[in-house]
Amino acid sequence: MIRQYELVEKVKAYDPSANEDALNRAYVFAMKAHGAQTRASGDPYFSHPLEVAGILTDYKVDSASIITALLHDTIEDTETTLEQIQQLFGNDIAQLVDGVTKLTRIEFQSDQAKQAENFRKFVLAMSEDIRVLLVKLADRLHNMRTLKFISKPEKRHRIAAETMDIYAPLAERIGMQEMKTELEELSFEELNTEARKSIKLRLEFLRNQGEGLIERIIDDVGSVLIENNIKAEISGREKTPYSIWKKMQKNDIGFEQLSDIMAFRIIVDNIEDCYRTLGVAHSVYPVVPGRFKDYISTPKPNGYQSLHTGVFGPERHRIELQIRTQDMHDVALSGVAAHWNYKHGGNKQDGPQYRWLRELLDILDHAAGPEEFLEHTKLEMFQDQVFCFTPKGDLINLPLGATPVDFAYAVHSEVGDHCVGSKVNGRMVPLKSVLHNGDQVEIITSKVQTPSPTWERFVVTGKARSRIRRFIRLKERDQYEQLGRSILQTAFQSDGYDFTDKALSGIVKKFNVPSVEDLCAGVGSGNITGRAVLLAVHPVSRSKRGFEKVVELARHRLKSGKSKKTLSKNKISINGLIPGMAIHFAGCCHPLPGDRIVAIISTGKGVTIHTIDCETLEQFSNEPERWLDVSWNIEHQSDDAHVGRLNLTILNNPGSLGDLSMIIAKNHGNISNLKIINRSNDFFDLLIDVEVRDVKHLTDVIAALRANPTINTVDRARG
Ligand code: MN
Repeated sequence: MIRQYELVEKVKAYDPSANEDALNRAYVFAMKAHGAQTRASGDPYFSHPLEVAGILTDYKVDSASIITALLHDTIEDTETTLEQIQQLFGNDIAQLVDGVTKLTRIEFQSDQAKQAENFRKFVLAMSEDIRVLLVKLADRLHNMRTLKFISKPEKRHRIAAETMDIYAPLAERIGMQEMKTELEELSFEELNTEARKSIKLRLEFLRNQGEGLIERIIDDVGSVLIENNIKAEISGREKTPYSIWKKMQKNDIGFEQLSDIMAFRIIVDNIEDCYRTLGVAHSVYPVVPGRFKDYISTPKPNGYQSLHTGVFGPERHRIELQIRTQDMHDVALSGVAAHWNYKHGGNKQDGPQYRWLRELLDILDHAAGPEEFLEHTKLEMFQDQVFCFTPKGDLINLPLGATPVDFAYAVHSEVGDHCVGSKVNGRMVPLKSVLHNGDQVEIITSKVQTPSPTWERFVVTGKARSRIRRFIRLKERDQYEQLGRSILQTAFQSDGYDFTDKALSGIVKKFNVPSVEDLCAGVGSGNITGRAVLLAVHPVSRSKRGFEKVVELARHRLKSGKSKKTLSKNKISINGLIPGMAIHFAGCCHPLPGDRIVAIISTGKGVTIHTIDCETLEQFSNEPERWLDVSWNIEHQSDDAHVGRLNLTILNNPGSLGDLSMIIAKNHGNISNLKIINRSNDFFDLLIDVEVRDVKHLTDVIAALRANPTINTVDRARG
């Protein structure tokens, strides 16, 4: 535990003008206020605010923030009142402590509406003074460091999940990289203990194989820079288990392919040297394509600046290089806290981190309700969605991978149907381009344009897909109608009758179709025979029984796809269905909550849910009327297990199958079926069905499997 004088010395070392007297008084006040209270660890309670203050000194924040850290739990957990704090420490401190107390009282519940309202309160409380958030983050960091002392697993889990979902992204947003990394790592350890363990084991294995590798690479890169007269400080580190895990999930790769697990930081004197270093690195080492990013000319929204590149470095190891100046480095580590302005008393609120906060407040002012606000502000927190804007600034929320065509349909069906081109951030781009978070998208339309069948290949939203199919279907219908007319004409004429629309209008009801046009299209598409229509108009031509049969058959065929039957009840776990429809989950693609899905109507059988990329859907492409746009209802998700299907290739070793089932069990999956598809001397190809909660759960299982060296490949089965 840090001592009183140590704390004061630490603050004075970076802020000579700090209010020493107030720091000392706050220390004593908090210690007395918490008295004999203890923490779950058995430590005196006061050790907590003290540690929080200690964490903040690493970020060199002003003494008001340090005092606030010392006092931050006094109102919530002791007899102390806000008035007392105000009298003893003044208005500024009282407001800060009040702000932190407000944040502490906000719990993020799973209830969407409440969560949204709470998040709104949270932003309001922290926006009054960013220092409130700094103290709160340090508070959460210390609580996470001591999480293991909390005995109830559910409580530990809730705190870790909240940290992962809310606090780590907030830390990132204000540029506190180290804070964010530690918060994530600690949450990950609680939320996915097994996966973290297996990644750490692999890291250890690789570390032993290449002993002293990091040092050798630093030496090598260092001497290359010296030869080129660049003064630099180089440090190397392994990436954290959580960042490796994220990479494995995002890029669908296993540990074997994940070779760049080392990152090296090169700190140079000035911006010019950053680019010179990059040039030298690229001329000495082969470049890994697609890895270069220039965050110096285009900083990240949180103010982060650096050059990133990937090279095959010394000993042909794939490594990541981050090149920056000392100043950029400071901002990278402590973000908003890096440029604290002590001398002018108070904080300089004009960095990019503050712009974010101001934008957040602006959204707060204009959002229709707390839920909409949450939608807007969770930008960074939703990884499977992109948020784009219309030229007027309206937000359009799309699934990851969405294109301008999806955007156009999301704006309005008419806009989608008539779109001919798109401008993203002011530049013309192809309609199939993938949109990114924050893109401003302008759709160019033309009255004469109609949906193109080729769009179907790249759109990702159900709405765009169904509109495009509907259009194709209408176009086909026109052609069927023409064809039907000529079939009927021939049929009528061969029996000596005149063919007129008037003659047909009297019998459309018999075929259960809305119009003459539909009747003709039915004939053209082969659902109704020309003969049946002729017999309906001129019954005398053939025997009555035969005719009724034909009509009945045709009627039945036509009805398929427009079933009005309500079948067995469903739990409302899927949006977009008529209540009571029976739901089946397709055996080809095994959709899971979290997948993007589409429902196919089957006559007499309710609907079958497929994943949107299921290959089986191809066979329904001519029947757009059977497609229903649906989505998972996250609110009413039951805890029912869903089945995910995996294709695996594993080493033909005695222990492989045992490993496999153990990893799945440890990740709380349940194998419901296992089939060996192929067996060779070296490998097994397997197909296994795993019961999981949702797609995230399955992704976790997959990543854990990939982390095991006996498992060669793991992929989700698709159709
Ligand atoms: Mn606390």
